[in-house]
Amino acid sequence: MTGAHPAEQMIADVVIIGGGSAGSLLAARLSANPARRVLLIEAGEEPSDPDIWTPSAWPALQGRAYDWDYLTEPQAGTYGRVHHWARGRLIGGSSCLHAMGYMRGHPEDYQAWVDATGDARWSWESLLPVFDAIEDRPDGSGPMPIYMPDEEVSPLTRAFIETGVSLGLSRLPNHNDGRMVGVTPNSLNIRDGRRVTVAEAWLTPEVRARENLRIVTEIRVHRLVMDGNRAHRIEAIGPHGPIGISADEIVLSAGALESPALLMRSGIGPEDVLKAASVDCRIDMPGIGRNLQDHLLGAGNLYATRKHLPASRLQHSESMAYMRAGEFTATGRPEIVVGCGVAPIVSEWLLAPEAGTAYSFLFGVTHPTSRGSLSLSGPNLDDRLIIDPAYLQTEHDRAMFRSALEAARTIGHADGLAEWRDRELAPGPLGSRAEIDEFIAKAVITHHHPSGTCRMGKDDDAVVDPNLRLKSLDNLHVVDASVIPSLTAGPIHAAVLAIAETFARTMTAGD
Ligand SMILES: Cc1cc2nc3c(=O)[nH]c(=O)nc-3n(C[C@H](O)[C@H](O)[C@H](O)COP(=O)(O)OP(=O)(O)OC[C@H]3O[C@@H](n4cnc5c(N)ncnc54)[C@H](O)[C@@H]3O)c2cc1C
Repeated sequence: MTGAHPAEQMIADVVIIGGGSAGSLLAARLSANPARRVLLIEAGEEPSDPDIWTPSAWPALQGRAYDWDYLTEPQAGTYGRVHHWARGRLIGGSSCLHAMGYMRGHPEDYQAWVDATGDARWSWESLLPVFDAIEDRPDGSGPMPIYMPDEEVSPLTRAFIETGVSLGLSRLPNHNDGRMVGVTPNSLNIRDGRRVTVAEAWLTPEVRARENLRIVTEIRVHRLVMDGNRAHRIEAIGPHGPIGISADEIVLSAGALESPALLMRSGIGPEDVLKAASVDCRIDMPGIGRNLQDHLLGAGNLYATRKHLPASRLQHSESMAYMRAGEFTATGRPEIVVGCGVAPIVSEWLLAPEAGTAYSFLFGVTHPTSRGSLSLSGPNLDDRLIIDPAYLQTEHDRAMFRSALEAARTIGHADGLAEWRDRELAPGPLGSRAEIDEFIAKAVITHHHPSGTCRMGKDDDAVVDPNLRLKSLDNLHVVDASVIPSLTAGPIHAAVLAIAETFARTMTAGD
């Protein structure tokens, strides 16, 4: 519902800003105690476009009215290209737009979080019960379906998996038992052939009926107003004008781009960045907006088919093979990934052949070391965000990408795919390292995992502490993809949900 009158002063014990993946889960978990009044504020509307629930339609959702559709700065590392970054602007947030792949990550990914925070709650072992409470699968007890589509995958995907195994990769049962290096179909947030958003999983009709939970939509928070060490007032804009909100506790879950932007608009951020954006600096926090990370995928290592390729019944990229660089039989923490795209998935630099006549093997780096930044172009709500992911700025990332392309082509040219492969369409013969790098720079697209812009940590520059409390205020927590200190190996949605559930456990411990 919208229902907020401009003159209305909303009050709650906990205000959650942003009804996306983290915010939807939190609204349900924190309102389980009837004594806690919870207000969830979302800039977008309730989702209604039927295509949202059709898994194969997910790429077509980008650019629609409920996509924030950000643009990055031109990227020197990707041939000067500007990248579109999709983000959901509705209840359920980016879980309404995402590709539904569910991967917890590798245990060492979480050890890196423990090293960053000094807090064992973020270890793989500590998070296992948290994942169990999130996941609906035979031995999990949570609301989010984790569907393993063994029978439904494309015959091309089956050939991809068998070829990977013939080259030495382990055939894993799924990506979620901690091994991750190997090949398997992707687990998906799908039930009965339909996407399940975080809002549907957690904000059920019973939860929405709670008297102590209020969900307001089409209200965009402009900034926080501070009084000493507390944010005591939230200034927002609704369809009918400005709205004032007060809360004891504020949870910022506006995502990896809007959470740091909202803090900056409130005067909390790096002094030089705020000054350049004409915002008065109230609290100098140099870490806000820094440490921006994203995964890229090379699209594509493209092949023409020998016979018609039926369309994917799932979400096109049906299997990811995670591996060490340069060695199909090595185990450990993954370094690169090759994905089986059951469609001609290409960047804007390549011409996509007709559907059914070609397929792409996507290739990527699991732990890029390039670090970008986010800043404001001005103090107003509609001033453009300056998003610079600094893609492919390190030799580590470029070298790993060359290795990932090589792995994709090794699989692509193997005998196991002879039934499907007519010929390689791209990249074709490449000579020098410079030629390879140029192809990669032109072929990469976002894997949609921006994160890290309010990272948790024990060091002085970290933005939130291991409890996710903003270090400079007593009553504000950031709970979303922005607190991730370093990327997990695969897609990050499982990690975002684990962050939200862990925070909910801490906050409700005394209930
Ligand atoms: C196209 C796409 C494909 C993806 N594919 C996968 C995948 O297959 N697997 C995977 O694991 N991950 C995937 N991801 C990533 C994953 O969906 C995100 O990492 C995750 O949803 C982020 O959750 P969040 O809570 O941090 O932010 P979001 O879910 O983006 O939520 C933020 C919410 O805050 C709201 N908001 C923002 N600013 C304000 C404001 N000022 N006032 C009020 N509300 C505000 C937004 O409208 C939004 O609803 C994909 C993402 C996209 C976009």
